[in-house]
Amino acid sequence: MAYQTTNPYTNEVVKTYADATPEYVETSLAQAQALYKKWRNDPVATRIPVLRKLAQLFKDETDDLAKVLTTEMGKLFVEAQGEVILCAEIAEYYADHAEELLQPRTIDTIAGDAQLENHPLGVLMAVEPWNFPYYQMMRIFAPNFAVGDPIVFKHAAITPASALAFEDAVRRAGAPAGALTNLFLSYDQVSQVVADKRIQGVALTGSERGGVAVAEVAGKHLKKNTMELGGTDAFIVAHDANMADVKAIAPRARLYNAGQVCTSSKRFIVTENHYDELLECLKAAFSSVKMGDPMDPETTLAPMNSKKAKERLQAQVDTALAGGATAYYVHEPIDSDGQFFMPTILTDITKDNPAYGKEMFGPVAQVYKVKDDAEAIALANDSDYGLGGIVFAGSAEYGAEIASQIETGMVFVNTFFSSLPELEFGGVKKSGFGRELGQTGITSFVNQELVVKRDRPNDNEFGGLVLPHKF
Ligand code: NAP
Repeated sequence: MAYQTTNPYTNEVVKTYADATPEYVETSLAQAQALYKKWRNDPVATRIPVLRKLAQLFKDETDDLAKVLTTEMGKLFVEAQGEVILCAEIAEYYADHAEELLQPRTIDTIAGDAQLENHPLGVLMAVEPWNFPYYQMMRIFAPNFAVGDPIVFKHAAITPASALAFEDAVRRAGAPAGALTNLFLSYDQVSQVVADKRIQGVALTGSERGGVAVAEVAGKHLKKNTMELGGTDAFIVAHDANMADVKAIAPRARLYNAGQVCTSSKRFIVTENHYDELLECLKAAFSSVKMGDPMDPETTLAPMNSKKAKERLQAQVDTALAGGATAYYVHEPIDSDGQFFMPTILTDITKDNPAYGKEMFGPVAQVYKVKDDAEAIALANDSDYGLGGIVFAGSAEYGAEIASQIETGMVFVNTFFSSLPELEFGGVKKSGFGRELGQTGITSFVNQELVVKRDRPNDNEFGGLVLPHKF
């Protein structure tokens, strides 16, 4: 039984779930396809009330919904509440703005009156990870629901209750059957669904490993896809950074969600004049965390999502140390059976270290000393990944100059990284391709249909591909 809720704080197996039967998969796809055919003719406005109700429902039921997250993947209850509220904001934003974002774009052309119309593309298959079980779903659901693309989805095997809670919320908000269907699929079934002719788009958020597997099947069957994958995001401390601001943000940029964020600052790249101060700041923060029950408001560091994830991270840290890295700081062990990873600070990771360039998905900070800002940029770019990044510099303008030189998808200057409904989210290189959210995200899975109209054929000569009146 692959789909299972196991509380990573207590290790209690809460519930196991049966895989989707082939019959259920078929019924779900047929229902989604029928809805697409209907939605094809329904204006965006007809779907807006559901998004508004969904936003209200996430606000009204914040604590109940948050508890599911904390039980299932261990995040702090306060962080789970924050995730639920963000979901409400995303739903509300697309309720308010989808019609405007999906307006046709007129094109100035001698061919006639031309416009690019945004039509639904068809049924989408979404594959989502456990680290923000609702937010990842809302990122794909709200904009594409507004567009009119029904979605079938496979959530992570360790977050089935979150998957069901999200699906149920959408249903209770009044979405028609087929708008969003959870399927407990095996990897083979994912491939079969992606290949199904009713699926027109595939969106995956997860690791490079998962992305490669699903993008390969999508490519083979010519399905448009977006890949939101991992990263080794840099936190650059430039020579003229305001260290009071840096110190207020740096620990959170690594420890939020127990370090299990795709855009966590995984590499602190620090100019030599600030290096010692940053290490001391991180050590002070990492040594003062309070690990414990994630439901307890006093707890400041949650367990990791699973035993497997904790063991994988430990193996990565061991590899780094065997490869010559220094453990500048490791939190002393605590007396708990929960899946806690002791916050760790690694330095002296050289290029020949097998851990160099690898994503460490948990409370482990890698800290690099550089001579100057140019070296910081070069090191930031010496990565196979390019998802996010944070730059602290003496001014917004100078920070933005540095940011523009980083080969990455998103950078925040002199502030914490945040995801908001109006901001495009996505990366480059092995962090994936395509964008979710924002103007680009909402048009990721639309048919941008060009319509050129006139009352009579054009008999002016013009240099287009086809010149009917010249022959
Ligand atoms: P993962 O193993 O790739 O899992 C993500 C999803 O893909 C899960 O639903 C998983 O199912 C599924 N999956 C994995 N391999 C598959 C295959 N061969 N065929 C079909 N489905 C497959 O990722 P993870 O390690 O759980 O999540 C953490 C990773 O996600 C990190 O690298 C993180 O940086 C990245 N991430 C990226 C973003 C972003 O927006 N760019 C956001 C959050 C996380 P199972 O659970 O059943 O294996």
